[in-house]
Amino acid sequence: MSLLTLDEVDAYYGESHILRDLSMTVEDGEICALLGRNGAGKTTTLRSIASSKPPDVRDGTITYDGEDITGRAVEDVAMAGISLVPEERRIFADLTVGENLHLADVARNRSNTFGRSVQVQRSGMSTEDVFEFFPRLEERESQKAGTLSGGEQQMLAIGRALKQNTELLMLDEPYEGLAPQIIQAVENAIERIRDAGTTLLLVEQNAAAAIKIADRCYVIDQGAIVFDGTAEELRDDDETRERYLGV
Ligand code: ATP
Repeated sequence: MSLLTLDEVDAYYGESHILRDLSMTVEDGEICALLGRNGAGKTTTLRSIASSKPPDVRDGTITYDGEDITGRAVEDVAMAGISLVPEERRIFADLTVGENLHLADVARNRSNTFGRSVQVQRSGMSTEDVFEFFPRLEERESQKAGTLSGGEQQMLAIGRALKQNTELLMLDEPYEGLAPQIIQAVENAIERIRDAGTTLLLVEQNAAAAIKIADRCYVIDQGAIVFDGTAEELRDDDETRERYLGV
């Protein structure tokens, strides 16, 4: 059974119809990449899964771990184990790295009243575990997060998500604005996070980098899926890559 299934999802911003009958799955334990040009609908897909509003999902269903989560409260979806690290990373710039990570514990331990969520709530990683994935964060534990480099901020944002009860980690353009060596460090961490049992859904414009680490890929264009297959199949499909990804 797939961990996450989108079945003919239609999503709107006001009257603009963005996602059109979008169907895709994410399998337990994989790195799944959703690729496409600017404005194709990648962020809208992640926001629809996370139940962030906008957009509005008006048709179709989103199933997670066998349960229909379409239109559930955003906290409910988070408590069920889905985390979204948005493009802007949303860390607390004036707090230190250590304080940012500590706040993730506070968020996790917040009492919640949603019946099923309480039962499935898992404890997240410890700060020590996060430091194992990202030794750089340990070196900078007492540095203000706002003074970290872009790559280090990305590591911190991922670290915070791992401290919550994340089973499915969704990353929106994690390589955005990062230098090549830092991309490599983030790539390595993403692979190790998968190998440790967390499922990942990765959205990227940097298709070449994403294809390198993905198990399976989807390509989205104008709100609809135009390709699905293994990373290898996409690598070999020059026409799809040139037409929809420009690489
Ligand atoms: P990018 O790589 O540029 O972030 P994307 O594939 O993530 O692109 P989306 O952000 O999902 O694209 O945007 C899909 C479409 O929805 C675009 O045409 C965009 O202009 C539109 N859109 C996004 N957010 C809103 C909003 N809040 N209100 C209205 N339209 C929006």
